[in-house]
Amino acid sequence: MARGPAGYRARMLVERMRPFTSTIFAEMSALAVRTGAINLGQGFPDTDGPPSLLADAAANIQSGVNQYPPGPGIPELRAAVAEHQRRFYGLDVDPDAVLVTTGATEAIAAAVLALCGPGDEVVTFQPYYDSYAATIALSGATLRPVPLRPQYGSDGQAAPDFAFDPDELRAAFSPRTRVVLVNTPHNPTGTVLDREQLTLIGELAAEYDAVVVTDEVYEHMVFDSGRHVPMATLPGMAERTLTISSAGKTFSVTGWKVGWVHGPGELVSAVRAAKQFLTYVSGAPFQPAIAAALGLPDTFYSGLAEELQGKRDLLSDGLRAAGFTVFRSAGTYFVVTDVTPLGFGDGAELCWSLPERIGVAAVPVSVFCSDPDLGRTLVRFAFCKRAEVLTEAVSRLGALRG
Ligand code: PMP
Ligand code: GLN
Repeated sequence: MARGPAGYRARMLVERMRPFTSTIFAEMSALAVRTGAINLGQGFPDTDGPPSLLADAAANIQSGVNQYPPGPGIPELRAAVAEHQRRFYGLDVDPDAVLVTTGATEAIAAAVLALCGPGDEVVTFQPYYDSYAATIALSGATLRPVPLRPQYGSDGQAAPDFAFDPDELRAAFSPRTRVVLVNTPHNPTGTVLDREQLTLIGELAAEYDAVVVTDEVYEHMVFDSGRHVPMATLPGMAERTLTISSAGKTFSVTGWKVGWVHGPGELVSAVRAAKQFLTYVSGAPFQPAIAAALGLPDTFYSGLAEELQGKRDLLSDGLRAAGFTVFRSAGTYFVVTDVTPLGFGDGAELCWSLPERIGVAAVPVSVFCSDPDLGRTLVRFAFCKRAEVLTEAVSRLGALRG
């Protein structure tokens, strides 16, 4: 045990949070800045969202929309979220059952903290977005990870992707399961869960009387004419599902941190009870601007997916040409690779050296796993960057083989 003030302070951190003192995104972004590397690690776009959205928010600040908004969020935004869910998915959402949060991160945390405590279990797929494990630890509940495993096509032609084994999913459920935390489109793998997979998850949740919390922040980033299926649209599932999304991804404003959750009134009230003591409220000038942006025409939404699909192709093709095994990204703005063909055995080691070596930053998939062996040789790249940035990154990555 470390001695002296630093050691003493380190021991002050409650034990359950000790594995979570830093995040891979903060560390890799800092390394990218230090080395001047192209940052394909942390997922954030390098261009701004719709000009009307930016102008609205700026005007709101100038005109004095700067004090606490109402606890559940402003009525215009709650109504706009409900209308968005009707327009894209045919869901009938009561604006009173929409809660505006400080990004999807807070919605997830408030849901888990509201519903789970010591002795409870949360089923989620691994690799998982990093906040899931930390949030579950904070609540005192236990994480039951179900692997998404690489699937290599038998013909060796189609790009490999990821899927879960239904038996492994079933085995993760128990009478202690309180929440199933589902992320689709999935970060980091780019997996988009289909109706059949979601149906099985829903059936198991119903059998064990668990709540499904769905993280749908990449809902508008689905490629190749695929479709995002919200869990709440499956028969009987709306009554046990909390649906979460965020303006950060859809409108390329990740720093604004405005998200939302909707679901059955009693569940949303439970989430609100936790949320109000995490941040109380946030984002006053952003909320009305986002309410208006949610009403942008279909061309905005389809344009977002089309543009990202082109970038996915640019980066995926470049990575393949550079010698990586490249998994199919069906959604999100991430693509996962296997670095084994390049002669590397450990993705994390490679990621720590990559910025110095060739001037590109990426993140190892192992940090998103409870079982690090699962993602040992996998590395995630973000493609939500300008085409010229991706082209330069691809040319630098080409040097790895040499
Ligand atoms: N869930 C997933 C899967 C994410 O990738 C992110 C992104 N950054 C979040 C939640 C957090 O969203 P927000 O920035 O709105 O808190
Ligand atoms: N969601 C982003 C990613 O996965 C980053 C979010 C963060 O930095 N916490 O890259």
